[in-house]
Amino acid sequence: MTILIDELFGALRGKFQGELIRASDPEFYEAHKIWNAMAQRTPALIARCTGVADVQLAVRSAAKAGVLTAVRCGGHSLAGFSSCDGGLVIDLSRLRQVEVNEGSRRARFAGGCLLGTVDSATQKAGLVFPAGVVSHTGAGGLVLGGGTGWLTRMFGLSCDNVEGFTLVTADGSIVHARVRENADLFWALRGGGGNFGVVTEFEVRLHPLTSLLLATSFCVEQDILRVVDEWRKFMPGAPDELKWNLSLRLAPIADNLPLEIHGKPVLSVALAWCGDSAEGSRLADHIFSIGKHVAIAKEEISFLNLQTMADADFPHGRRYYTKSGYSINLDDRTIQVMIESLASIPSKNTQIELAYLGGVAGRVRASETAFGDRSAPFIINLLADWSDATEDAENIAWVRKLFNSLRPAMKPGVYVNFMSGDEQDRVHEAYHERWERMVKIKTHYDPENFFRMNQNVLPSSNPAANSTD
Ligand SMILES: Cc1cc2nc3c(=O)[nH]c(=O)nc-3n(C[C@H](O)[C@H](O)[C@H](O)COP(=O)(O)OP(=O)(O)OC[C@H]3O[C@@H](n4cnc5c(N)ncnc54)[C@H](O)[C@@H]3O)c2cc1C
Repeated sequence: MTILIDELFGALRGKFQGELIRASDPEFYEAHKIWNAMAQRTPALIARCTGVADVQLAVRSAAKAGVLTAVRCGGHSLAGFSSCDGGLVIDLSRLRQVEVNEGSRRARFAGGCLLGTVDSATQKAGLVFPAGVVSHTGAGGLVLGGGTGWLTRMFGLSCDNVEGFTLVTADGSIVHARVRENADLFWALRGGGGNFGVVTEFEVRLHPLTSLLLATSFCVEQDILRVVDEWRKFMPGAPDELKWNLSLRLAPIADNLPLEIHGKPVLSVALAWCGDSAEGSRLADHIFSIGKHVAIAKEEISFLNLQTMADADFPHGRRYYTKSGYSINLDDRTIQVMIESLASIPSKNTQIELAYLGGVAGRVRASETAFGDRSAPFIINLLADWSDATEDAENIAWVRKLFNSLRPAMKPGVYVNFMSGDEQDRVHEAYHERWERMVKIKTHYDPENFFRMNQNVLPSSNPAANSTD
């Protein structure tokens, strides 16, 4: 690989406008870090692009030299797909321009934007792009995989709100994908991840919103079951304005929580309501009347506050491992298994996140996007979070064991952005009935599987080209 990298460096030097950072350079250590320390890899070269021409040059040169290449936006891939060992990272972090058209409620943003970059720009016009819940997440990976968040039920997935993509494909060409231009590619990019090229620009629809009602609380002991039970019954008929998320975890050591529950199993309750405030407040009060809730908070907050309030809970550089699945119904046994698993949870930061899709996102037909079937609305996401590498095995084993016992109640399928790096065998499951169409489009745009550091769809032309070594 060293010879190939030297060849690549030689091809880029003098022509590439951005920074070329090699492993021997002092800035390499900071530049090579990704969010999940457990998935950290060590590339040989980082090409920090300044524009589309840099992306084209990097793609063409790396393809010619046969260098393994990863594409990085926010670097938040849980699987660590924004880096690779011994190869090239095409780093998009300098491509963060956002252009908002208030009148048409549209925006264009560059392929390296973080969610926070997009939110800050769109909020100046009182508009929102529905995306994820942590502002330091990259918009590139999140939108291409689907994109769920507080506004999913009200306005759809992030990918449902994309009207156009501009990308650099594996041969270095610039290609546009819209509903009437390369329609197959447009379909595939909405849920298909980074398989098809480097997206340098997203054109998206925006919606008017500047604040919403947020209500939070915690429940303990038998009230955990009562509230989860109410949630699973209530959500299928809930208004689109409501996003009600639950999280099973150990209670954090926090001033607003009674001392006696610190470190004990709790249910964390969070509701965001983006409709009439008084109606949302009544709804929250109703939910808080089920069982006993502590640390109740209810306030109208700005959208920007909502989008940044979880940032510190998911810091860069910790160790994370996840497994996820969908369920049509949440049966009693599944709930019981999840609650009981809290007794053996190895890390105080680990969470079992429960979300309900539905709403506008749930009404998009399965055939419309590569994201596909939305008919199993319960999302169960096991997210282990710890800091000491010597505890990797214990934390991973806990997630795997719990996932295996929940699996019988899950419908086949998984959201690609919540997958770990050891789940390539589930990529087919993620796209199941859409697989053949995905393979056809992949084969057309990337026959040599140049873009393989992702939840990889193998082209039929070159099924052997899947090595990431
Ligand atoms: C703290 C945290 C919070 C999260 N919250 C949510 C959430 O609320 N909702 C949700 O849906 N998901 C969420 N996720 C999951 C998130 O969607 C994925 O981790 C996603 O991959 C992050 O995108 P990124 O650009 O930061 O990733 P990166 O690691 O940079 O890239 C991920 C993948 O996308 C590809 N890619 C990235 N940008 C481009 C581009 N411009 N063109 C082509 N390919 C590209 C990469 O090659 C790689 O395969 C969260 C993740 C984290 C770590």
